[in-house]
Amino acid sequence: MEHVPTQLLPATPEHIALAAEVLRRGGLVAFPTETVYGLGANALDADAVARIFAAKERPAADPLIVHLSGAEQLPLVARHVSPLGQALAEAFWPGPLTLVLPKQPQVPAAVTAGLDTVAVRVPDHPVAQALLRAAGVPVAAPSANRFGRTSPTTAQHVWHDLRGRIEMILDGGPTPVGVESTVVDASASPVRILRPGGVTAEMLEAVVGPVTVEQRAVEEGGAHGLPSPGLLRTHYAPRAELVLYRGRRALNALRTDLAAALAAGRRPGVLAMDAEAEALAAPGALVYRLGADLEAAAQRLYAGMRWLDGQGVDVILACDVAGGGLGLALRDRLSRAASRVVIAD
Ligand code: AMP
Ligand code: MG
Repeated sequence: MEHVPTQLLPATPEHIALAAEVLRRGGLVAFPTETVYGLGANALDADAVARIFAAKERPAADPLIVHLSGAEQLPLVARHVSPLGQALAEAFWPGPLTLVLPKQPQVPAAVTAGLDTVAVRVPDHPVAQALLRAAGVPVAAPSANRFGRTSPTTAQHVWHDLRGRIEMILDGGPTPVGVESTVVDASASPVRILRPGGVTAEMLEAVVGPVTVEQRAVEEGGAHGLPSPGLLRTHYAPRAELVLYRGRRALNALRTDLAAALAAGRRPGVLAMDAEAEALAAPGALVYRLGADLEAAAQRLYAGMRWLDGQGVDVILACDVAGGGLGLALRDRLSRAASRVVIAD
């Protein structure tokens, strides 16, 4: 791949103006949103969009989310918005909700992986907002990580994955939500959640009534004909093997395996909410605490996986997360990161 010098810049108004210029000229800019860092390109420029796929090494069959500065830009990319979609946009934009809508012909096929629908959202982050307004074009922006790795929640994560491949990274500090947006098919009735995320099922139901959650088992590599083609099972994974413990006796099973791994001279890491981490403290084990509540855990999940990877662990033992709300998104990402699930009931 062609080497591109990467500038890592604080997200000042001057640097945001510079970044908007880079986008307008067909370049790639990583920027913070409230969910995770995105890797942006002009969504209407097929060559710029092709560079996103090259930089991320992302398969062409995985469509991108188009970011708008406001709902008034919708006609640029979407042909039609259903009444349910309209209600959701009014309730949650700007915010971590992505709507799948019928696409305008002018959106390049590369953006949507050839689908006749386009995924769209309006992010709620001052840097993303300022950048989108200054650029004046819809910006296609998947998460700014190499394909298959965990999404970046800091500018340093982006630097680690993409330096030398993109023109610019705007550093706006750690992202507040920490997991990706909720992807919703609003043309279905009831509304269908294709990917759980920052806007919870409960929040959606308060606006549009009962929703369904896409549960179709996704086999590795079997992405064809899926309602949301990017949802491969091995997405969002750390480098180390991750074993997920689920069920009433999950903590016991994890504790036993942790002791065995330490005794065998392995280098295990643990990922758990504060309450579980407390009960697990084992000498010699690297324990990353996700926090006391689901909001904290979502914000820290990917940073935790990257931190444990950086410590050179050979296996990550993770305790499943309970609860509604953001619990659904956390369980989804943990199962996709897992190479193995231990069910201990
Ligand atoms: P990312 O931007 O990396 O968080 O991932 C974008 C994800 O949104 C994709 O992997 C798909 O799962 C989903 N997506 C994007 N476009 C569509 C679409 N047209 N229909 C259904 N799902 C989509
Ligand atoms: Mg991604």
